[in-house]
Amino acid sequence: MTAVPRPYIPVARPHVGEAEKRAVMDVLDSGQLAAGPRVEAFERAFAAYVGAKHAIAVNSGTAALIVALQAHGVGPGHEVITTPFSFIATATSIIACGATPVFVDIDPFDLNLDPEKVEDAITERTRAILPVHLYGHPARIAELAELAEDFSLALIEDAAQAHGAEHAGQRVGTFGTGCFSFYPTKNMTTGEGGMITTNDDEIARRARIIRNHGQEVRYRHDLFGLNWRMQDLNAAIGLAQLEQLEAWTGARIANAARLSSLIRGFETPRVREGDRHVFHQYTIRVPSGRDRLQQQLHEAGIGSAIHYPVPIHRQPIIQQLGLGDGSFPVAEAAAEHVLSLPVHPGLEPEDIEYIAATLNRLRS
Ligand SMILES: *Cc1c(COP(=O)(O)O)cnc(C)c1O
Repeated sequence: MTAVPRPYIPVARPHVGEAEKRAVMDVLDSGQLAAGPRVEAFERAFAAYVGAKHAIAVNSGTAALIVALQAHGVGPGHEVITTPFSFIATATSIIACGATPVFVDIDPFDLNLDPEKVEDAITERTRAILPVHLYGHPARIAELAELAEDFSLALIEDAAQAHGAEHAGQRVGTFGTGCFSFYPTKNMTTGEGGMITTNDDEIARRARIIRNHGQEVRYRHDLFGLNWRMQDLNAAIGLAQLEQLEAWTGARIANAARLSSLIRGFETPRVREGDRHVFHQYTIRVPSGRDRLQQQLHEAGIGSAIHYPVPIHRQPIIQQLGLGDGSFPVAEAAAEHVLSLPVHPGLEPEDIEYIAATLNRLRS
């Protein structure tokens, strides 16, 4: 007798259904392959979802960060305060603008930029604060917004992992200038894609110009821009995904709650009172033997991932800033202990029970 093997549980699984397929075929039939009416409709729908006045679609989350920084006038000689514990694009987008990332250590509670350490890092060259809502948990965004206001700095939110996350009932991406990613593993996808959100008419205008070769009037280039445009094909997928986003987010939140009620002996994710964590990642902290545990989970048919194994200030590309080990102890400790488990909406209740039971067994 052979047992039916349990299908492997991947750590992320993008959902593409009939609505997305139909939407793509409609675009192909329309002949509108560059940016057109679907990009405009997606921008309107996403702005409404986030609760922002404007949304500007671009071709990746990285593009959203670069265009947002440039729309705020960030360039050579400027500094941008950010977190060392994120995906590399948070920092490299600052470098791409000719500015310097200035790292500040994270809050051990949620692994996001620690507002209490930000003020000491502000200099005459500082132009912006760029927090990340890591794993879908809002950074302490109200405090950061207040600091930005007090020091007349731009606030740019890396919300690449945080579609629909909220602080005090307000969605992220509306406290400052929001930057979202629609990469396939994110909470919703367009294939590649990104979005900038803002309530500021002038920032929105500049972002639209920078996105399109710096031209407002055809063949007249007032600002430095490149081609950061989204195409209608991607926007059509995004519109179909956005309709399902709240249901998927509800499933992520429920899956996370169920995992936390079943897992024993590991530190499970914490949610700050009054915040809505949208669980892009469900990340536990493993006191010791993390890499071995990851291998054992893999052998048991459970995918997992480390977000992120090397803090940004320790990356080879950033070494020129001369930030050695010990510069940001909270971020360095997090990099050694975090482990993300599957939490995506495609999980069945049995999958969640199996993940928790396997973890509990491997711990003992
Ligand atoms: C995914 C991600 C980005 C980059 O988005 P892309 O669409 O992949 O360019 C930036 N910052 C964070 C925190 C991300 O998770």
